[in-house]
Amino acid sequence: MNLDPLVDPDLFPLLARAKAEGNPVAYLDSAASAQKPAVVLDRLRDFYTRDYANIHRGVYPLSERATEAYEGSRERVARFLHAKPEEIVFTRGATESINLVAFSFGERFLKPGDKVLISALEHHANIVPWQQLRDRRGTTLDVIPINENGDIDLDAYCRKLDDARLVCITAVANTLGTVTPLQEIIALAHQAGARVMVDAAQGAPHLKLDVAALDCDFLAFTGHKVYGPDGIGVLFGKAELLREMPPWQTGGDMIRTVTFEKTLFAESPRRFEAGTPPIGAAIGLGTALDFIEAIGFDKIGAHDRALAAYAVDKLGEIPGLKLIGTPQHRSGIVSFVLDGIHPHDIGTLLGSAGICVRTGHHCAQPLMEQLGIQGTVRASFAVHSHAGEVDRLAEEVMKARQLLG
Ligand code: PMP
Repeated sequence: MNLDPLVDPDLFPLLARAKAEGNPVAYLDSAASAQKPAVVLDRLRDFYTRDYANIHRGVYPLSERATEAYEGSRERVARFLHAKPEEIVFTRGATESINLVAFSFGERFLKPGDKVLISALEHHANIVPWQQLRDRRGTTLDVIPINENGDIDLDAYCRKLDDARLVCITAVANTLGTVTPLQEIIALAHQAGARVMVDAAQGAPHLKLDVAALDCDFLAFTGHKVYGPDGIGVLFGKAELLREMPPWQTGGDMIRTVTFEKTLFAESPRRFEAGTPPIGAAIGLGTALDFIEAIGFDKIGAHDRALAAYAVDKLGEIPGLKLIGTPQHRSGIVSFVLDGIHPHDIGTLLGSAGICVRTGHHCAQPLMEQLGIQGTVRASFAVHSHAGEVDRLAEEVMKARQLLG
């Protein structure tokens, strides 16, 4: 079991600086946003100091170079997912990617009475857009339940699939760390004639996502959780679907011709990228994917599992501490509560001891309600995480318990 960092934490300038200043940070909040490795920061600086200009429109070399880098990044993302470049839409985050599908796929392919299925594990980003669609368009919304471990109840799923038109499912649950059986969920949906949208915001940093093998219809992820910049997201959509879908935001760059009377839209994916996109962030994302793939998902998965198992053991020894969720397959996320102590109070004390964790409902209020809790303390791991940080976490939780209990 390898409990050492997979990547030297000193390759992350923020972590290296905190250590050099004598205040080392145990950054256990990568599920919220990952720290940035030097290679990504260097790439951004390089791009902005050598090749920066607006893209697609300029006929001068600087703009041509920027366009080439931006479109090169689209190709990089396509390789990352085993998709075609024309199936990759750049957005501003996973939230925007899901909203795009809700608006555009919703308008073109869903009619009043059609059922959208989500799971009880979803983040608000994969709940609220479907509620809004229901209220706008008269679709219905149903929820796949989970069992007491925090795993999808597959029998209940099969029963609910009957008349579903779209299934929206997370790859990894951001609160409990559950890795969902995507392959099975997608195959069952397709047998029932439903399309599938995967929320891979938490999956992309931890799992190999091969959209060709998965055969999902849409998949969304976000740059800032895969060691890339914030403000950039990805939507993969099967070419045959994107081709049929109307634009959802409109303006410059997504058109073929405009007169005052009417507009002809560009082909997808350009049709879905209205206005100046996050150019630098898209390019930084390409480098982040190089970084992650050079480490390899086999190693990342083994490291996540080892650290999570170690944390479950270590934290499990603390009296009054209750782990929330014991999924069959867990990614690098561990959530817990302490008897009678509010998660925010624990988080604040941990924070002052240099340990960064997330506390609260983690944008999954319906899940919290179902579990009968207000929130949890969540530790999440990255390639720079190691056992020493879990030890520090357990020690400080013990101290917090003594102080607050
Ligand atoms: N889905 C899940 C499972 C997430 O954890 C998050 C981010 N917390 C999102 C979607 C939304 O990602 P973003 O905020 O980058 O749009």
